Amino acid sequence: MPSEEYYIYQAAHLCQKDGEAVRKALTKEGLAPEDPDDERTYDSDDFPKGPYLAESEEIDAPSHCDFHEQCRMAEKLPSGRKIGAFIPFSLTEDGIQYVRQAYLEDPDNEVVQFWVDEYESMGYDLDLPGVDPEGSYAITIDFFGEDISSIPAHAGELHDVDETEWGAFVTFGAGGWELKDVLEQLIANDDVGDSITIVDMEDNGIVADDWQEAREFAGIQ
Ligand SMILES: [Zn+2]
Repeated sequence: MPSEEYYIYQAAHLCQKDGEAVRKALTKEGLAPEDPDDERTYDSDDFPKGPYLAESEEIDAPSHCDFHEQCRMAEKLPSGRKIGAFIPFSLTEDGIQYVRQAYLEDPDNEVVQFWVDEYESMGYDLDLPGVDPEGSYAITIDFFGEDISSIPAHAGELHDVDETEWGAFVTFGAGGWELKDVLEQLIANDDVGDSITIVDMEDNGIVADDWQEAREFAGIQ
């Protein structure tokens, strides 16, 4: 479960329960500083400092309790795998981009999905494309005489663009982009020619052979 409070110990973050447990164990061994509340008198390498409130700190990447699967507040992922308690620090702009990129690169990763759920519920707008449950599609667009380099910028930066004698071949889907989002971005791009073909990569069937069919298939009004 997320730990709103955390400790710093040996250059890592510990959840509230593990921070308290380490403090207790060290105290039992006679290794506690004289006054744990006076943080200037000891080093966080020797005794956990805290508790601090996570939301009042900003970080550049998600953070979990350093006890990993042994964590007393461990998060249980859908596969049954355990990871250290999530510590809900605020994200910097770099932190938001970190989570966003992690999702774009590996949208099926359950840790990444966990981060997305947590940060979205914290109110962050990660600006993620929707996941297309239908699988992947190949779009062929007539881009003759146009600037091919403008396609990825309009259709999503993760796309493969292949120039052939028939036109520009744009492949997407695996990255989690929704067909509708991509088509809308292509439509917004004045460079797009008149013809479009969309092929379902799973069965190689043509699902749309012109823009009207493409719009209908993707659910664009
Ligand atoms: Zn923990």
